[in-house]
Amino acid sequence: MPIKSRVRTVPHYPKQGIMFRDITTVLKDPIGLRATIDELVRRYKDVKIDKIAGIESRGFIIGTPLAYALGVGFVPIRKKGKLPAETIGHDYALEYGTDRIEIHTDAISKGEKVLLVDDLIATGGTAEAAVILIEKMGGKIIECCFMIDLPDIGGRARLEKRGHKVFALCEFE
Ligand code: IMP
Repeated sequence: MPIKSRVRTVPHYPKQGIMFRDITTVLKDPIGLRATIDELVRRYKDVKIDKIAGIESRGFIIGTPLAYALGVGFVPIRKKGKLPAETIGHDYALEYGTDRIEIHTDAISKGEKVLLVDDLIATGGTAEAAVILIEKMGGKIIECCFMIDLPDIGGRARLEKRGHKVFALCEFE
């Protein structure tokens, strides 16, 4: 398990009771980094994809080399106010309050096939907001892809209920 065994768990980060799954220990290791990208390339190399959309910020780290290897374009989905040109955004609920993600209005064309990438899915709120944005632009989600799934928290089920396919390289309870 070159990927799961390299994930570092940081207890009580960013707050008491949270077990934070830290992928920097996978990425700093050439075997972990290569295994991550290679496994995803193997999965998607024969799939028709037009764009990879990566969610800020760790989705950029995995999404860009994957897009490069597959020979497709990469588009960033960013937190509020970070993208310079015209954007559309979507607000989504957090445990306390709301957050907003945005994408450039010219990032995805109608009918394009999009692979959504992030490091981890927990509640699925962030990925669901990204899916809503991509679909608003006329993009078709091919799959939602993560390094880590926390299935007990329910994000995978939430996306599957919307009819989306979900793939993760590993799971943690
Ligand atoms: P969700 O919206 O609850 O699914 O949370 C997923 C988002 O929060 C992703 O963008 C992750 O990068 C981040 N996140 C939540 N928990 C963790 C964690 O344990 N490790 C790394 N990122 C996390």
